[in-house]
Formats: sequence, structure tokens, C-alpha cells
Amino acid sequence: MFFPLRFVSNHPIYRVHEIPETFLYKAIDATTFGNHLVPSWFRNAFDHSETLQNKMKAVFEKLQKHDRQFRIDFHLAFLSDNNVKELCDNKSLSPTLKQSCFKPVHDSLHTLMTHLYKPTLTTKGLSDAVGGVDVFDHYEKFIEENSSSYVCPFCGLNYYRDPENGRKEAYDHWLCQKNYPASAVNFKNLVPMCPECNESPNKGQVDVLYEDSECTKRRRVLYPYNHSHGVAIKIDCVKHPGISLPRGEWKVEVTAMDSAEEFQIDTWKTVFNIEDRLANYVARQQRKWYMYFLVDRDLALSGASPEDMRTRLEEEVRKLEFKLAAHLEEGGFIKAAFFAYCLLHADDTVLFALAKVAESHLIHTRAKMARSVAT
Ligand SMILES: [Zn+2]
Repeated sequence: MFFPLRFVSNHPIYRVHEIPETFLYKAIDATTFGNHLVPSWFRNAFDHSETLQNKMKAVFEKLQKHDRQFRIDFHLAFLSDNNVKELCDNKSLSPTLKQSCFKPVHDSLHTLMTHLYKPTLTTKGLSDAVGGVDVFDHYEKFIEENSSSYVCPFCGLNYYRDPENGRKEAYDHWLCQKNYPASAVNFKNLVPMCPECNESPNKGQVDVLYEDSECTKRRRVLYPYNHSHGVAIKIDCVKHPGISLPRGEWKVEVTAMDSAEEFQIDTWKTVFNIEDRLANYVARQQRKWYMYFLVDRDLALSGASPEDMRTRLEEEVRKLEFKLAAHLEEGGFIKAAFFAYCLLHADDTVLFALAKVAESHLIHTRAKMARSVAT
């Protein structure tokens, strides 16, 4: 990812994770099912939710069919699968609840945890039980904590939704809920993410810990709240834009700034289809970027000399580097890389082609505006 996120260090909503943790711990020695199995602060809400009681009871009854040692091991496996950061960092660690010995209870636990995530996590009952705050309040804190960057760090292409407008991003389960139900309501596993990144064919339900869908080849992956050294972006023009191919064809290569993070960066690139998405973004945006650049810098569009353009490109790259450091602009990372390419690698033919296409885009846009004013 382009930069790490900052974790909100403390928030009352995190207590939701105490519910399954306490339940599985108490279920080791309990002989009867009831609200004594959930934390005392949640009992009132629990008593009012028959659906949640039924789902928890199903897990309890499955556990009761096994001996005490099994229940201890199941609880430990649950705790172990919640070491999200360690599982991401260390590929010799294996998730434990997936083991076949836990299969008889795993599916019921999955159903319970899915219910705790949706709808329990967003219910008024839970909100009241944790002191009147909810997930939206957490999202506001998350945006405050990460206010040095407004773009999604997984793609760098889209802004995070502004909580001021009463909207929040969906929270992605970094370890997917399908394979890792234990961490479904653990906020160390929940990461706000833009919809484009969060959905298939990008991350979706992809298991970030394994290379293959059969989950046999373990891999390392960045933990989103870990420090990381970021990436370098290199752009190349495969076919320069022209009248018959206005978007041109672009290639984007992303590499880890720190070679020790190479494998984690590779996983991120694969899971989020980063290089293809960035190349498409360049193809889509370059006309507009170049048009604004020429207009802003008062250059005479395709009539400008390559020397003029290069002088102005240097100014543009400096300006974008400032914005890039502040993470302020949607698509800022890739836009900066595009102008760096124009300055350092594009030959005069490419610069002329970019200016020509930008000019025709400007003429077309102005004509369209004139038509809409006239009508
Ligand atoms: Zn994104």
C-alpha cells in the first residue's frame, strides 16, 4: 500500500470483541446456556436479541458434544486467529481454527460471528451497552487519526468518504470473514477501505494469507496498521496517445522502497490489481492532467516548444511532490509519477503527442460548454 494507516488506539466499540471471547472462555466449564456466558455489560442487549441467543446456543451445544480439552483448544485457537498482525508478518504461523479437528464447531461459529458483525455491531442495543457510541463514531475518529491523508491508501485513487456528510466507508475484514470468522468483530482486523478496493475483482473475499484458493501456499502480506516504507512508481508509455488512440497505452511498475518489504508489496499488488488499475487510471486521466498543466502554465498548447514544456514540467513535478507528501490529492501518487515520467523519460515525440491530444480535448470541452450555455 502507499502508506500505512494509524489505528485508533482506544474506542468503546472495541468491546464488541469481548462478547465471543468471553463466551468461548466461559463455555469451557459451563454446563448450562444463558446470559451468564456473555460480559455483564452486554447482558441486557443479549436478553433482547433472540436471534443472537439462538446462534450462540448452537455453538454452545456443539461444544458440549466434546470434552473439556477440546473446548480449551477451541478457545485457544480462537485467540490465536486473532493475532492478525502476527499472521500477516510471519508466514510460518498458521491459522488454527481452519484445522479439520475444529470443523464440527467452525460453521456454527462462522454463523455466530457473521451475526455479531451484521447486524449486532450496528444495533442500538450494542451502542447503548458500550456507552452510546457506534461504528460511525469510530469512523470519525479514524478519519481524525489519519487526517494527514484523505485518500484510500490501498489504491491512492479514491478519497475516503467524509464523515461530515454523514457517510462512512465500509470496513474491510483484512483476514476475510469467510476463512477467519474468529476476527469478524476484532477492530485490529477491520480496515476502512474505498468501495473499489473492497469489492471483487479487487480484494473482495480474497485470502491475503495464501497465494492459492486452496490455501496451501502461505505468503507474507502488509498489515495495514504497520509502519512501512512505501513504494516507488515507474511509468512507461507503450503507445503514445494520438487521434486514433486518445488514451494511449501505459505500463506502470510499482516496487517496494525497502527491499525487505518486497514480498508484502507483491501480495498487495496482486490482491488489489494495482499495476493494471494504475495504468488504466493514467490512460483515462492523462489528457485532462496534461490539458490543465498546459493551461495553468500558460503554455501555447501543441505550439509550445519542448524546452518550454520541460521547464514547466519541472515546476509541476515540484508542486506535485509537495501534494504527494501531504497525501492530499485523489490519484496524487500516480499523477506525480506521470509528470515525473514526462519530465525525465518522455522524448519530444511523446510530449508533442500528449499536448496535441490535450489540445483537442480542450477544444472539444469548450465547444460542449458553449453548446450547453446556448441551449
Ligand atoms: Zn482504494
